[in-house]
Amino acid sequence: MKKWPVPNSYCNPISSSGSPGSFWENRIDRYHCGVDIYALPGSDVISIESGCVVRTEEFTSPSKVPYWNVTYNVLVETKRGLLCRYAELRDVAVNTGDRVKAGQLIGHVGLVLDTAKITETSPHYIRKIKENGSPSMLHFELWDTRVVDSDCYLGGNWFGSEKPQNLLDPTEYLESTLETGSF
Ligand SMILES: [Zn+2]
Repeated sequence: MKKWPVPNSYCNPISSSGSPGSFWENRIDRYHCGVDIYALPGSDVISIESGCVVRTEEFTSPSKVPYWNVTYNVLVETKRGLLCRYAELRDVAVNTGDRVKAGQLIGHVGLVLDTAKITETSPHYIRKIKENGSPSMLHFELWDTRVVDSDCYLGGNWFGSEKPQNLLDPTEYLESTLETGSF
C-alpha cells in the first residue's frame, strides 16, 4: 500500500494545475519539475512505496546560489522502475543502496531560501516567494527509468521550455496514495 509522503502536511495537499507548487508551473524564467507539499520545517518525510535508494546528495547550497540554504535530496527507485525524488530535505535518514519500505522515514522537510540574502536583484520568482513568507515544503519529482542530469535543471526547476521526456507529472501518483486512506 502506498503512503502519502508527508504525514503532517497542510490540508489540500496537491496544488491544482497551473497554481503555485503544481507540476510544470510556469515561473516566468523556469518551469517547476515536481509538486510541492507544504509542511513545517522538520516534518517527517516517508517513502511512498518500497524501493531502493539509488542516490542521496546535496540539492541546494549557498555555494551554488547565494540565497539558498543547504538541503538534500533522496532518489528512490520503485519496483516498476519509477524514480521518486524527495527534495528540499533538511537531513537524510537513509543511505545509497538501502532498501526502504513504504512509510519508512527518509528525512525531514527543510527550507531552501535564506530570505535575508534575497535582494532586489534576485529573480522575480524568488522575490515573490519571500513576499509570501517563504514556506517550507517537500519538493517531489517523478521520473520514468532515469533522471536527466542537465545544465537546464537547477533546484527543482527546468530552465528551458522543452520538458524532458521522462519527467512525469506526479499528481496522479500522489493522489493514488490518498485513495488508500493513508493520509
Ligand atoms: Zn518544488
